[in-house]
Amino acid sequence: MVSCSLESLDDKIKTFGKFGDTGRGGVTRFSLSAEALDARAEFKRRMEAIGAKVVTDDMANMYATIPGTETLPAILSGSHLDSVRQGGNFDGVLGVLTAMEAAETIVREGIPHRHPLTVVVWTNEEGARFEPAMMSSGVICGKFDKAAMLDSVAKDKPGYTFGEALDKSGYKGSEANRMSPDKAVALVELHIEQGPVLENEGFDIGVVEGVCGMINFEFTFTGQAGHAGTTPMKYRQDALYAAVKTIQYLHDELDELDSRLVYTTGKISCHPNIHTIIPDEVKFTLDARHQNPKVIKQVLEIIKKIPSEVEKCRVSYSEAWSRKSVAYTPELVDYVEKSANEYGYSNRRIYSGPGHDAQYVVDVIPTTMIFVPSVGGHSHCELEYTPTEACLKGANVLLRTLLYIDGQ
Ligand SMILES: [Zn+2]
Repeated sequence: MVSCSLESLDDKIKTFGKFGDTGRGGVTRFSLSAEALDARAEFKRRMEAIGAKVVTDDMANMYATIPGTETLPAILSGSHLDSVRQGGNFDGVLGVLTAMEAAETIVREGIPHRHPLTVVVWTNEEGARFEPAMMSSGVICGKFDKAAMLDSVAKDKPGYTFGEALDKSGYKGSEANRMSPDKAVALVELHIEQGPVLENEGFDIGVVEGVCGMINFEFTFTGQAGHAGTTPMKYRQDALYAAVKTIQYLHDELDELDSRLVYTTGKISCHPNIHTIIPDEVKFTLDARHQNPKVIKQVLEIIKKIPSEVEKCRVSYSEAWSRKSVAYTPELVDYVEKSANEYGYSNRRIYSGPGHDAQYVVDVIPTTMIFVPSVGGHSHCELEYTPTEACLKGANVLLRTLLYIDGQ
């Protein structure tokens, strides 16, 4: 059984961890920042060293291609090199490094392949400096309007647009280089799980079936402000108390649904937020995610049962945004599972909670993902960690999956 190289993969992880190193085990590497451009240059240098031709498209997505033995569309694999502020050394970058490792192994071992193999780097996946997330895969897959994206303004520099950063980067290429069905036959993206399931259940590999659908609601409770010392309890219209009762109701009801449902109240505001005043307006959010649209519908029914008045306070709510669940290409999902089994790696099928570039690409070409465990489930922080041995298993499954696609 051919294997990627542990030493070589470890060297890649360590080398790329230097670009934007925070000195505390993580990186800050915003898209198109000086640190991200250094990472891109290293990527280009290493890919050219194994004979790849590197091109970029008009959103600065990078494509490094090694030729196949036949004139066919390419098989793609990759992820993103940008990070959130004080992020980890694995989110995104590991998908690029394992794809490089798989390509290097194929070249080093002289493994024949009919299709060209392309390692792809998507620009601005995190949306940490220029919103939204998954910006450039979104543009080329028809999800976002390009002009609006170019006008996206940096959060830390008023008036500075993504379009300007793109022009300055030196990586803006031709629209003709965009991934498209005539040039690409499939995409496989490896990513860290960013959650605790694989580690806790003792699995080496997550065979990703899709991305969970999600809804996000904002609730508003309107009561009456009053003096904390003079207003008897029976006369109060306490908006915070009404909100707390509703959060409790939501937990009680939602816990009766499927155990794979995850939901969060992560944001709450209380007006006037003064310890001597009864709150008159409280807002909170509810984020709920599940792979099955039927369960999401049940969540909506539970929300609809909230009365228009709770504890004498007026209740209103609105949907802030939502995302449909995404299913990856079943044949490719099977290849990932088969590949993991061949190496004797324990694996389970899993749905992704977070969004990834691959979820836009699947609308254009056959696509799937591979997860490796995240120690402690940590992600988007400096504690994010996956041992190189565990990353290597992912790289091997990726390598084998690419060869299965090549043979189909
Ligand atoms: Zn990511």
